[in-house]
Amino acid sequence: MIDAHCHLQSPELAPYLEELLLRARNSGVDGAVVNGTSPRDWPQVEQLCRTRAELRPSFGLHPWQADFEGDWAQELERLLQNNPNAGVGECGLDSLLSEVPLAQQLETLRIHIQLASEYQRPITLHLLGKVWQPIQAELVGLDVPILLHAFGASAELARQFSRQGCYFSLGGMWLRPEKNRGALHELPVDRVLLESDAPYQHPKGKRFHTEPALLAELCDQLAPVWGLQPEELAAQSHQNALRWLGEEAGNSGNPRSPDGKSKL
Ligand SMILES: [Zn+2]
Repeated sequence: MIDAHCHLQSPELAPYLEELLLRARNSGVDGAVVNGTSPRDWPQVEQLCRTRAELRPSFGLHPWQADFEGDWAQELERLLQNNPNAGVGECGLDSLLSEVPLAQQLETLRIHIQLASEYQRPITLHLLGKVWQPIQAELVGLDVPILLHAFGASAELARQFSRQGCYFSLGGMWLRPEKNRGALHELPVDRVLLESDAPYQHPKGKRFHTEPALLAELCDQLAPVWGLQPEELAAQSHQNALRWLGEEAGNSGNPRSPDGKSKL
């Protein structure tokens, strides 16, 4: 399995990173996409992924940092040029928890979208709050595979965004007992990825750290939503992740492109 979204560069994970990667492998997680969130952690992400073949970098300005000053766009472009396997993100829009005005977040996001399109890289979006209308307009015509990370929205939005060809990654919030998994029925299972968002998004709250091994539990708990066995969801989400990353043979990763047709 591939952990579609995590932050293994986080300093709080550093003391036990080796242990954590071992637990990941032992639980069937043999790859991860490590997301940088600002120029402050991009060098750590780049270095971590250079030294470990199973980790793939992604670089972006998190919507909470969308007012970062300086030449970040130039640096982002340089990282994409120097790391041909790098994705774009974590970037996005957040009207709930970000202090940056939405107009400024949009401006920042547009730069990411433009770079993703120019360099043909998969893009990872963080979307939270009243942002679903503006984001839909931004995504029209974008010709790269799009991942909506930590997808937790309604069945109606699941329908709309799956029509737009997006992928969805599901994390620890779906293990919370109060979370209604009904909305997940609307997600086509060939667009579903799994993520730890390590060290964040622990089902028991902020005091705990998540890690990539969480994917095994996500498979156990979520597979019945689509009438699957856990190992079937593991295999399906792995295939989906490869398609999103453009690594599946003969497939561009973009469900809207002629060679990226859904297989189910
Ligand atoms: Zn994240």
